[in-house]
Amino acid sequence: MSNKFDLGFFPTPLQELKRLSKKYPDYTIFIKRDDQTGLASGGNKTRKLEYLIKQALNENCDTVITAGAQQSNHCRQTAAACAIAGLNCHLLLGGEKPDIYDGNLLLSSILGADIHFTGNNRKGEDLETLQNTLEHKGNKCFVIPYGGSNFTGAMGFVNAAKELKQQCNEQNLKIDYIFFASSSGGMQAGLTLGKEIYQLPAKLIPISIDKDETNGLSLENVVLNIIKEGSKKLKIKNNIQLADIYLNRDYDKDGYGVVTTNETEAINALATNEGILLDPVYTGRAFYGMLDFLKKKRIPTNANVLFWHTGGLPAIFKYANELR
Ligand SMILES: *Cc1c(COP(=O)(O)O)cnc(C)c1O
Repeated sequence: MSNKFDLGFFPTPLQELKRLSKKYPDYTIFIKRDDQTGLASGGNKTRKLEYLIKQALNENCDTVITAGAQQSNHCRQTAAACAIAGLNCHLLLGGEKPDIYDGNLLLSSILGADIHFTGNNRKGEDLETLQNTLEHKGNKCFVIPYGGSNFTGAMGFVNAAKELKQQCNEQNLKIDYIFFASSSGGMQAGLTLGKEIYQLPAKLIPISIDKDETNGLSLENVVLNIIKEGSKKLKIKNNIQLADIYLNRDYDKDGYGVVTTNETEAINALATNEGILLDPVYTGRAFYGMLDFLKKKRIPTNANVLFWHTGGLPAIFKYANELR
């Protein structure tokens, strides 16, 4: 029996960015289109939710609760997944209730989620309180942590490593570096585990998006904890330490959700050369980081470089002023 509940369109395309590669002649740039995973306009959370929703159903839960920022892609995709699976969905979103719902917040609402606004808390600090309230009313709750980042969610990216390995084999391609936006850690942990299991030779370059800690833990620590649990459960022998977790922190200084000329430059570069849209919070920042690496030749020349597009498009409409 499968341990996942189908929610998306896989495998996602693996494409060469031909025009952009010409502008960086020392490298060949590829893109993995997880912005095309389906599930209410795509994104990397589809992969995690296939495993998380399956677990919720296995445990006979009737309600899913999770948390994030108002423009959380994870929350929007969780709302869609719950609609498909016939589960109630409660979202705890940071900030105060706005007059107008837009971007992901609007979509989460359309998708039928019950939305609770949690002020300064945007990383699931109030999940347990809400769980207690709902269980008191007789619901059976499945709690998905911030970003869907626990071992179950990370399994989506263990599997994604296998998907990429297969595509590389089929296209007779060796990817040397994989750049992606890392924020709640599940994708990074899953790819790290999957790389080992499926012998993907590429080096991961996760670009940190959010400099803030999550419930008192740095992102490096969150990633380490998921990898340790995963290593045990998947029977991978390693003695991974905090110092082994690589995370690039060069581009997160302006803070989460703040759009600077970095993000707009990256969004324009991919849009005008390739007709592909990035988002302002995650992929815009990570793509800028990758282009900066290539410009400065921070990785060896002649490398095949992959950008893992993780989605996030709906948030672009929240940043209309910055992006015009
Ligand atoms: C959640 C998200 C990420 C980061 O993935 P994590 O597993 O949370 O680190 C990257 N890009 C987008 C668009 C996301 O929504």
